[in-house]
Amino acid sequence: MTKTGRVYLVGAGPGDPGLITVKGRDCLRRADVVVYDYLANPALLAEAPPAAERIYVGKSRGRHQLPQEEINALLAERARRGKIVVRLKGGDPYVFGRGGEEALHLREQGIAFEVVPGVSAGFAAAAYAGIPLTHRDYTTSLGLVTGHENPEKKMSRLDWEKLAGGVGTLVFYMGMANLELITRELVRHGRSPRTPVAIVRWATTPRQQTLTGTLADIVAKVRAADFKPPAVIIVGAVVELRQHLAWFEERPLFGRRLLITRAAEQAAVFQQMLEARGAEVLSVPTITTRAPQDWGPVDAGIAALPNTDFLVLTSTNAVDFFFARLRDLGLDARALGGVRLVAVGPKTAAALSERGLRADLVPESFQAEGVVELLRAVGVAGKRVFYPHAELARDLIARELRALGAEVDAPVLYRTLMPEQGGAELRALLEKRALDAVIFTASSTLENFVRMVGEDAAHLLEGVALASIGPPTTRTAQKFGLTVHVEPAHSTLDDLIEALVDYFTRTRHEPGMAHQG
Ligand code: SAH
Repeated sequence: MTKTGRVYLVGAGPGDPGLITVKGRDCLRRADVVVYDYLANPALLAEAPPAAERIYVGKSRGRHQLPQEEINALLAERARRGKIVVRLKGGDPYVFGRGGEEALHLREQGIAFEVVPGVSAGFAAAAYAGIPLTHRDYTTSLGLVTGHENPEKKMSRLDWEKLAGGVGTLVFYMGMANLELITRELVRHGRSPRTPVAIVRWATTPRQQTLTGTLADIVAKVRAADFKPPAVIIVGAVVELRQHLAWFEERPLFGRRLLITRAAEQAAVFQQMLEARGAEVLSVPTITTRAPQDWGPVDAGIAALPNTDFLVLTSTNAVDFFFARLRDLGLDARALGGVRLVAVGPKTAAALSERGLRADLVPESFQAEGVVELLRAVGVAGKRVFYPHAELARDLIARELRALGAEVDAPVLYRTLMPEQGGAELRALLEKRALDAVIFTASSTLENFVRMVGEDAAHLLEGVALASIGPPTTRTAQKFGLTVHVEPAHSTLDDLIEALVDYFTRTRHEPGMAHQG
C-alpha cells in the first residue's frame, strides 16, 4: 500500500517566530516538504526535520516568483508521492494569501488537506503597535481590505462609499503602492480628513516601525520618511490609543543590534534573555569546544568509577562531554551507581537532571572555592575524587582537595578553541557598521574575537559599545587597547543585561549606527 500524503496549509504568523501556533509548529516538525515564501520567518524552517525538502516559492513584489499554478501543482505532486507537505504562508493562509486557491486546487485533485490558521499581519501589527482594532468607545466594526487587488480589476472595484462610511476600523494589506488613492477615496466618500492613520512595517520583528498621521497628511509623511512595504495601514479612531498602549517599540533594547560571542551551546539562552528586552541579537561564537587530544586519561577514570566516591562536574559543557564519552564507551548513567555527584552551579545541576540524575552536592558559591569548601565540610580524606575538566581550568580544585587528603584524578575532558569560521562574518558586520554593541561573557571570547577580526579590531569597533561581564574580561580588552563601555557590578548575565539597558537608556537620543542602509 502506498502511503498517502497530505498538505497542511499553515499560517506562519506575521514575523515573530513565536507567533506560529502550536499546531502549526507540530506540522512543521513532521514535514517531509516545506513550501514557503518570503513573509514566512526563515527561523521557522529550522523546526522542520533536517532532511525535509525546503522549497522557496518567492512572492516579493516585483521579484521572481513561482506562478500560482505551479505552486498548486507542486503541492499536489509532492502529496501524491506520499509526502507530508507543509505550505507555510505568512500570517493566516486564508487572509489575502491565496490559500483559498491552493485549497480549491487540492480538493479538485482529490488530495487531503488541513488548514492551520495563523496570526494575520493586521491583527499582529495592531497588537504590537498598541492599537486595539476594536474598542467599545471608538468602533464596533472592523474591515480587512486589500490595497492591491488584481491589477486588472484596479482598486475601483472596492465599494469606497460603504468602506468610508460603514466600517469603523479599516486595515489595508498590500496598500503602500496605492496609499494616495486609498486616502483620497476615503475622504472623497465622507471620512474625515482628520481620521487617524497608522502604518506599521515589518510588524512584530526587530525592524518594526510605526508611522502615524491622518488621512490628510499620511501620504506626505510616508514620502518624507521613505517608509516602505511590507506594511499594513490601519485607519480609524482607535489609532489614537497607540499613544497610551505602545509597548513593543518601547522596550529598552528595541532597535539595538547586539552581537554575542559565546559558544553556540551557550548562546541560545542569553540570546532569548536579550530579545526579551527588545534587542535584535546576532550570534557569532568566538569560542568552541572540542574533545581532548587523548581520551585515555578520561577513559581510565571512567573505568575506575566503581571505586570512586565523588564525581565533580563544573559546567554544562563538562556534563555534555562526560555523558557523550560514556555513551561512546557503550556505557550509561548506571556506571555512576555508587558515585556522589557534585555539580557546580544550578545550570550544571539542571544538565544532570535532564539525564535523570540528581546532584548530591551543589556548592553555594559557583566558583572553584565553593567546591573545595563543600567537600572540606563533607570530608574527603582518603576518598577518590574524579574531576574531569576543561583544558585551561584553574588547578585550584585538584590542588586543594589533594591537600585535604583526597586522591584526585583530574584529566582534561574538553578543550576550548577558536572556531575556524566566523572571522569574515565578524569583519563584515563591523565594516557595515551593523552593530550597536558587542558583548563578551568571558575573557577568552574577547581574545579570540580580536584574533578573528584582525589587527584593526580597535579601529573597526569605533562607535560600537563594548560590553564586558567583569574585570578579567575588561583587563583583556584593555590589553588590546579597547575601551569597555558597559560592565556590571556583579558578573552575572542578568546584571550584564541591566547594565546594557542602563547604557542604552542613557544614550537613547543618540540613534545607534545600526540599521543604516
Ligand atoms: N496572509 C497574510 C497576508 C499576505 S498579503 C496575512 O494574513 O498576514 C501580504 C501583505 O501582508 C503585505 O503586503 C503587508 O500588507 C502584510 N504583511 C505581512 N506581513 C507583515 C508584517 N510583518 N508587517 C506588516 N505588514 C505585513
